[in-house]
Amino acid sequence: MADLNTDVRMIRGIGEQRAKALGKLGIATLRDLISWFPRKYDDRTQAKRIADLVPGESACVAAMIASPPTVSHIRKGMDLVKVRAVDESGVLDVTFFNQTWLKNQLHQGETYIFYGRAEGSLLRKTMASPIVEQEGRGEFTGRIVPIYPLTAGVSQLILSRSIRQGLDACADILPDVLPDEIRQEHHLCRINYAYENIHFPESAEALDIARRRLAFEELFLFTIGLKRLRRRREVVHVPPCRAVDMDAFYAALPFSLTDAQRRCVDEALADMTSGTPMNRLCQGDVGSGKTMVAAACVYFAVKNGRQAALMAPTEILAQQHYAGLAPLMENLGVRCALLTGSTPAKTKRSIAAQLSTGEIDFAIGTHALITGSVEYADLGLVVTDEQHRFGVGQRAALAGKGEHPHTLVMSATPIPRTLALILYGDLDVSVIDQLPPGRRPIKTYAVPGSYHPRVYAFLRKLVAEGRQAYVVCPQVSENDELPDERKAVTEYAKKLQAEVFPDLKVAFVHGKMKPKEKDAVMTAFAAHETDILVSTTVIEVGVDVPNAAVMVIENAERFGLSQLHQLRGRVGRGKHQSYCILISDNQNEETKQRLRVMTKTADGFKIAEEDLRLRGPGDFFGQRQHGLPGLRVADIGCDTQLLKEAQQAAEALLAKDPELETCPAAAERVAELFTQNADALN
Ligand code: ADP
Ligand code: MG
Repeated sequence: MADLNTDVRMIRGIGEQRAKALGKLGIATLRDLISWFPRKYDDRTQAKRIADLVPGESACVAAMIASPPTVSHIRKGMDLVKVRAVDESGVLDVTFFNQTWLKNQLHQGETYIFYGRAEGSLLRKTMASPIVEQEGRGEFTGRIVPIYPLTAGVSQLILSRSIRQGLDACADILPDVLPDEIRQEHHLCRINYAYENIHFPESAEALDIARRRLAFEELFLFTIGLKRLRRRREVVHVPPCRAVDMDAFYAALPFSLTDAQRRCVDEALADMTSGTPMNRLCQGDVGSGKTMVAAACVYFAVKNGRQAALMAPTEILAQQHYAGLAPLMENLGVRCALLTGSTPAKTKRSIAAQLSTGEIDFAIGTHALITGSVEYADLGLVVTDEQHRFGVGQRAALAGKGEHPHTLVMSATPIPRTLALILYGDLDVSVIDQLPPGRRPIKTYAVPGSYHPRVYAFLRKLVAEGRQAYVVCPQVSENDELPDERKAVTEYAKKLQAEVFPDLKVAFVHGKMKPKEKDAVMTAFAAHETDILVSTTVIEVGVDVPNAAVMVIENAERFGLSQLHQLRGRVGRGKHQSYCILISDNQNEETKQRLRVMTKTADGFKIAEEDLRLRGPGDFFGQRQHGLPGLRVADIGCDTQLLKEAQQAAEALLAKDPELETCPAAAERVAELFTQNADALN
């Protein structure tokens, strides 16, 4: 076998049929195949006695066939094989549907291992369609069995057999990307052992060892990739910005910036005068005043004769930014324009023309800013707001509109430092760790469902005082909110309107509405045309309605702490005392503790740390969806110690050998990972 890029068809034992099935999962090469890691594992090492089987639980039993299997034809297309098995403790009746061939394979007097869900009563145990295997075979029973992610037409059997063939085929050619020295220093196993045991673990310990090695390797390569990206950026030269007298800008503001805001501005301006492109993340809790930091940078860029663009994830946010910033900026001589999906075609054309000639200095908008036809005369600064809502591609597209423009990414999602290191390893980070003065903390309460009447009475009182309220509606089910989201919101809103607040104006918004409809509802709420807004989490993004003073969250236990914090940040934006009411009937101690954290602290970073701590290790391969290149085994939430080790190792190696000449296998892997995802981290 030549190398890992060999087509799976070339592997012994994998024919056209199987290759086609694998293709459905995107598995084309030998490397794809052996890197298709299990989603979880089933521990089938211990066989139980029949008497010890618990109805409703899956388990292995070793039992002897007591009488010849019988086949009965139930109805068209449905045959049933029945067989009775026994051990010294009891009797197990086993049935198989449509597997008539088993009749000739299960022999009376021989012992087999059955793995399946036990049913029946304590005295009479049954199992329907278990996995059955001859004793001692040990492929699907008597061991820790990998459970793979599947798709229609591809079974566990096909996958585990194919992967077995794959591992055998590449046993002699698996390149070890970790230099021996590093491997030994960090007590990591060899590559063959790791692949063997991540798929077919000999024991729980072996699985741990394999996982640790593969996670380390991923984090190691990832760090090297990030460091090289950063270096690539550092060697790009752009004309440095001149220093600009910022006094006029500061004097035009209705308030003075907080020290934290000033520091972030200074850090960003220093980047822009450095001669290499800025690539900075500005992180600040909701309400910390990120917009003004962006505005200062825009002013600076424009006074340097360049253009700036600010991209928001929704139409209403873009409008809010425009409404808030344009008067200020125009006063300072900055020519502004708003460009969104709903800008009339004619206006759009005229704005595009003015952007291309440089008559407009500052464009605020949605992704309309990056549609193909929009050209900029000299785009020098790109700001994206609430970055987690944007695909990487969109950010890259906006940056691509200029010649290495400076980029500033604004995020209100506080993340723990360890996580930031890996997510933003390529970005410089500024943190606004201070709120503007005079903010009254949001009073937060956690209450049970029986408080509904009191909660409603409270809403009524605040509405009578002229305030508005958000109600985040109960989710229908934890994992699967989508199918019923629309129904849940509309019905809850209808009920509130009809039964509780017939005299008030109740509106609703959910993620299934068209962007235009959503924006219309939000705009009406912002204009105080409605009193109470029932919604799903779509209001999570930074819409500013200063008159909204209450946030009620139903089924608060369903949300992560960070998400609750984001939701809470929708209120407390004006001069009124604001409230957040978390409703939950969940009696789970951990849930109660989580909600208590919310009532005790307003600090988004603390909450994020706590979230991570309480959430614990989670699923074995929990967070696959983070979109970072090459992290399949490592869990970015939990492997923080390992991350530190891997980072140290990567740094030490790069210091000694920046071009990775001593470890070509690692160099090759990094190149592969990061060219497949060229701009994965912009
Ligand atoms: P976020 O960081 O959530 O985007 P914003 O930029 O929307 O926060 O600011 C929240 C509110 O605080 C806005 O109404 C803004 O005008 C106000 N604000 C920002 N900076 C200050 C400051 N230094 N002093 C007083 N108010 C401020
Ligand atoms: Mg904001």
